[in-house]
Order: sequence, then C-alpha cells, then structure tokens
Amino acid sequence: MFVDKVRITVIGGRGGDGAVAFHREKYVASGGPDGGDGGHGGSVILRVNDNLSTLLDFRYKRKYAAQAGANGQGRNMAGKRGENLIIEVPRGTVVRDAESNQIIVDMSTGEDYVIAKGGRGGWGNAHYATPTRQVPRFAKAGLKGQERDIVLELKLLADVGLVGFPNVGKSTLLSVTSNARPKISNYHFTTLFPNLGVIYVEEGVSFVMADIPGIIEGAAEGAGLGHDFLRHIDRCRLLVHVVDVSGSEGRDPVEDFHAICAELKNYSVDLSNRPMIVAANKIDLLPPDSDNLERLRRTVAEVGCELYEISAGTTQGTKNLMRVVAQKLRTLPPVTIYEPEYVEVVQAPVDPSAFEVEHYGSTWLVTGAWLERLVQNINFEDYESRNHFDQQLRKVGLFARLEEMGIRDGDTVDIYDFEFEYQR
Ligand code: GDP
Ligand code: MG
Repeated sequence: MFVDKVRITVIGGRGGDGAVAFHREKYVASGGPDGGDGGHGGSVILRVNDNLSTLLDFRYKRKYAAQAGANGQGRNMAGKRGENLIIEVPRGTVVRDAESNQIIVDMSTGEDYVIAKGGRGGWGNAHYATPTRQVPRFAKAGLKGQERDIVLELKLLADVGLVGFPNVGKSTLLSVTSNARPKISNYHFTTLFPNLGVIYVEEGVSFVMADIPGIIEGAAEGAGLGHDFLRHIDRCRLLVHVVDVSGSEGRDPVEDFHAICAELKNYSVDLSNRPMIVAANKIDLLPPDSDNLERLRRTVAEVGCELYEISAGTTQGTKNLMRVVAQKLRTLPPVTIYEPEYVEVVQAPVDPSAFEVEHYGSTWLVTGAWLERLVQNINFEDYESRNHFDQQLRKVGLFARLEEMGIRDGDTVDIYDFEFEYQR
C-alpha cells in the first residue's frame, strides 16, 4: 500500500504553570516571592528524511502532540521545557492547512519547519514582586500550545515524469537509464509505487526521472488509483510520453497517444501544457509492414512535439533520448517549489472593554476577545490568581455592566466555560 496523502493533527505542548512560593530561611520572618516560571511547551517540528518515500507511517497515528512544559517551583526553579516532537516526512511533502487547503510549507528544501508552537510557560510569582504588591500570591498559568489540522501530500521532486499506458515500457526505460530498479513484468499494474531514478548523462549533467503508477494502471483491476498518482508529476519540468509503437498488445499507438493526452488534460490543464517528448518504444518489435510509426510520427508532429524511436528492451536509442532530455531541461525553469499561501492570523491587540453580555434566566454569558485571552491566562486553582482576575473584570467595567442589566446575587456568570456565582 502506497500512501501519499494524509490528514493529521499536530499539537504544541502546553506551557507549565508558574509557581507561587516564598523564600524561607531560619530567623527570617517572611521571605520574598520566589516561585519559578513554568517551562515552555515543546513544539512540533517537521523534518525531511530522505530515506522515506511514502506517508505510510501516518496512516495509523493521527495525533502528534509535543511534551508539555513542567510547572515552576519554589526557590526560583523554572519548570523544565517540554521536549520538541520531530515528525519526519519524505522530501517533497507539501503541507496544507486542512480547513482552507492553503499551502503552509513545501518540505523540499530540507529546512526544518515548526508546524505547532509550544505554549509559553506562565510566570512564577517572583516576577510580581513589585513595591505595590509586596506579597504576590498569584502566578500565571501556562498557555496552551498551538493546535492545527494539516494535510500532508507527497509530490515527488523529479525533473522528468514518465507517462503512458501500462506495459508500454516506462519502468524498463527507467531501469536501463538510471540507478533505479523498478519492478518490471508483463502485468498491467506492476508499478504501484512511484520510482525515482537519477540519470547521469555525462560529467556534471544529471537529472531525476519518475516512473509513476500509470493513469489507467490498476484502475481496471479495482486498485482504484484513479488520477491521484498524477500529483507526483505535478512538479515535473518535462514529460516523456512512452508509447508502444509496435502495437504488440493489440492496441493502436495513435489512439493511445490521444487517450493519455486527454487524461492528462482531464487531471490538469497545467500538466497537459507541460513540455513533452514522445518515446516510440518497442521499435524492435515493430512489424516491417506496419505503418504505426509513420502515423504516430504525424500525430505527434501535429501537436508540436518531438518523437524519438527507442527500444528500452534492447537499450537502442535510450542514451540518445536521455541526452536530448538533458538538453531540453537546460532550457526549462527549475522544479517547482510551492510558495506558502497560508497567512497566520496575527492576534491584533484587542479592546478590553469590548465584550458582550447575554443572559438566559439567571445565567449570564460574557464573551469578548480580550476576556477569552484573560481566562486562558489565569490559574484558577490559585486563590490570588482568581483575585487578580476579579480585579481585572472590575477594571474593564464588567460588573458595572452586569448590575446595569439587572444581575442578582447568586446568578451564574459564565466566561468561556469559567463559571462563578455572582456576589455583590
Ligand atoms: P510499464 O508498465 O510501462 O512500466 O512497462 P514495463 O517496463 O513493465 O514493460 C512491460 C513489458 O514490456 C515487460 O515485459 C518488458 O520487458 C517489455 N518491454 C519493455 N520495453 C520493451 C522493448 O523496447 N522491447 C521489447 N521487446 N519489450 C519491451
Ligand atoms: Mg511500470
């Protein structure tokens, strides 16, 4: 099974909570605050591993979470930072935001990419020892790590893509011209994995050629590959269209040529406009009285492509074809590296007094961007932190507004799932 598209969730580690602690020493009545900061959560990082060629490993595991930061402790001890989680992907993996389908990053250059940032650790109370708050009994909770759903999609990095019907000799051509050893046999669906081969033409001149599962390959047998595998030649700079000119399988080379061109166009107009060279293969099997080659030659000329006669089986003409390909490549733009499209929404500064209040009977629902952030930032297990929260709510005028709207003692106030009973 070849897997080249998966959806996963990546989650940065939560930041550790800051500590509330006070320095203790013999004969010293009350020491200063010395609660350490929480450690930052680990990040999820994408990294290219050139030994991988599929996304198979992602099939069984869908959630990838980095380690949380440890909580801070007394004596100014900061919590340990959470470990980063490294996710290895094959080169050429294109990463998209699952919701918008926009490209976040193309893992082709080999640089690591931080896909989910860990949350910041919260400050310990040592930070809050200001003259006005001599005994700071509160610390901040760590922040949540970034969580996002992404789609990984493998698009091989190859200069040249081989296209053509099953059994026309694509894998054979790759095997006789490169270091790749693809499966070759007289079945119509031997190539279920894309194969990459490096072709050395001469000193300093080489290129990468990809043999992908054919357009029709396997589909008739129910393997159901459809057009999906064509994504592997999306980046190719040049297509080599292999046609069995001998008609050895009882098919007509001109019809085959048109059929494949139509399929390419069906998948993507962009791909069908890609420069193409036609390899008329199995020339060794061409019956002397056949007009196949001439008819194909005319057809190919009509669409403005060049045709080269080869026999991948006997290697006749294959070296020459590779030289022509290398020459052609020199005139073409480099392999496409996709530009990021996804723009992270930067949190704009928000107005603290912009909040809304709705009420249902005795329950008061309060919403507002600033409050949402505040709630995330408060360690509700800690008394002084709650006090701090209370002061903040008073400062932005929330209680005044609630009074105005007729809140009564004992009613419930709900701010982003944090609930408390209202008391004047
Ligand atoms: P693919 O499905 O396009 O990858 O085709 P393969 O490379 O697997 O070849 C299919 C069959 O055709 C195999 O049995 C090959 O040995 C045979 N074949 C490929 N090229 C030639 C050729 O130039 N001449 C002859 N006689 N047979 C060939
Ligand atoms: Mg093949």
